Amino acid sequence: MSPTPQSDRPADLLGRPLRNLRISVTDRCNLRCRYCMPESEYVWLPRHSILTFEEIDRVVGIFAGLGVSKVRLTGGEPLLRHDLGSLVSLLSRHDAIADLALTTNGVLLARQAEALRAAGLRRVTVSLDTLRPERMQEFARSARHADVIAGIDAALTAGFESVKLNTVVIRGYNDDEVVELLQFARGRGVEARFIEYMDVGGATGWTMDQVVSQREILELVARCYGPVEPLREEAWAPAERFALRDGTTFGVIASTTAPFCRTCDRGRLTADGTFLLCLYGEDGLDLRELLRGGATDGEISHRIAGVWRARSDRGAEERAGLAERGILHRIESLRADPRREMHTRGG
Ligand code: SF4
Repeated sequence: MSPTPQSDRPADLLGRPLRNLRISVTDRCNLRCRYCMPESEYVWLPRHSILTFEEIDRVVGIFAGLGVSKVRLTGGEPLLRHDLGSLVSLLSRHDAIADLALTTNGVLLARQAEALRAAGLRRVTVSLDTLRPERMQEFARSARHADVIAGIDAALTAGFESVKLNTVVIRGYNDDEVVELLQFARGRGVEARFIEYMDVGGATGWTMDQVVSQREILELVARCYGPVEPLREEAWAPAERFALRDGTTFGVIASTTAPFCRTCDRGRLTADGTFLLCLYGEDGLDLRELLRGGATDGEISHRIAGVWRARSDRGAEERAGLAERGILHRIESLRADPRREMHTRGG
């Protein structure tokens, strides 16, 4: 598609443009983290419903025409998708996509990092919730901690434009490791980002008292390193960034206690092709049906622009305003519609 004039780029009802697209390429995962996939059994999306690489490529071209310039591949665990490098290679050919990134749990990264970089992937974010293998075993039911560390090191060797570490901080699990994780990141020259525990679909064991707030995270860091300075930058980024006196920077994503919906320019594509307007959104636009039903690029673009213009979602802000806040979905409701799961919609 030829570049779309600025005036054709849709803004939603709160004036938010569509600039970011998170694409879940699979609902499968090789970990069972308590904050995302804590159950022993899941209802998986049928294989034939998962978008092919060609379909994803086509849809990214259409989104690029509407103003999307940043694409992040997620899952599930995206590296479980066979030959992901081929998709990266296809997507990296879109000139309008200035930023192509991947979020991974790192388990399979060591053997794929170099090929992904060569295929055109620019940035990688690796989830690292603990430095203690026994904790990962207990929390994520995996003995692959060493593989995650090897994956981080392989990403550094592969020469990505940026490598970041994401840590979901949960009281009683890893809140005593915030400083150690920051030190680990600092030692490798990568940026740590601490994320508040969110009550999204999949987090069936969530309670407010397990949430370690941004304020507490900053206090933990300041107790060890002294004053922490906020960095004033891009208002559209979910992470607020901070600097230590020695220049080390880190981020905190305060999605639970200080949500940033007002500046949210992110759409989401589920592995089976539903375009969602919010991490908490219930209904979406079925792009798979359009893609496979013979719709033209122009027709699909028109439909996407239409739902984005009607968007008023502020999921996290609305949750924060609830007097009594519990889990978002019970397990029965997740089983009835697996697209409510975070691993399906891309966290
Ligand atoms: S809750 Fe929804 S609107 Fe708010 S920041 Fe997250 S995705 Fe955006």
